[in-house]
Amino acid sequence: MSAYRILLAEDEPAIADTLLFALQREGWQVRHCTLARDAEAALAADPPQLLILDIGLPDDSGLALLGRLRRHSELPVMLLTARADEVDRVLGLELGADDYVVKPFSPREVVARVRAILKRSQPAAVPAGNPGSLFCHEAAARRIRFAGQTLALTPSEYRLLATLLARPGQVFSRSQLLDALGEAAEDSFERTIDSHIKSLRAKLRQVRADLDPIVTHRGFGYALEQG
Ligand code: CA
Repeated sequence: MSAYRILLAEDEPAIADTLLFALQREGWQVRHCTLARDAEAALAADPPQLLILDIGLPDDSGLALLGRLRRHSELPVMLLTARADEVDRVLGLELGADDYVVKPFSPREVVARVRAILKRSQPAAVPAGNPGSLFCHEAAARRIRFAGQTLALTPSEYRLLATLLARPGQVFSRSQLLDALGEAAEDSFERTIDSHIKSLRAKLRQVRADLDPIVTHRGFGYALEQG
């Protein structure tokens, strides 16, 4: 399992340092921001698997950030609040936070809660040696997850991978894949498919460097490795 990626938005250095230490000790990759706008930029550029969000950030309320995030994302969020204010907590949960902790908290408690949220939000463990089942295709949302992470795919990459996923083990010729893309056949069609496959593989490798689920059938085309 690759390391979980967590974004921490917290402006108080002492709290941020304590949390960074505790979370990184679990082997998780943690990025840290002190401003809401930096957190939003980081969320857009490279979505983590969980956001730990201080309600009282200097430039904006964490609750406002959460509200904006929930319009387009189901990313698990844990709120940190310094206030004993029940209203913040209730509002946070209504806005779609998965959990919250009230400062001062023990880092161990935060780690345990983060682990629980991550466990809930990840797909069930898959048997080893079965890369096909590492994919989760949410067709209605046009979203494909690989090993629990949503892939940031171009429309062409999405259609290509969705086609391969529909029939694991079946070898698709380049022209069949081109049909799936809805692109007109042209002289360079083989290279078109090859370059899409190349970038797809790079994106899959970012999630699981140890797997290469797309199989090349030289001179013919591609297939998704069968579980
Ligand atoms: Ca704060």
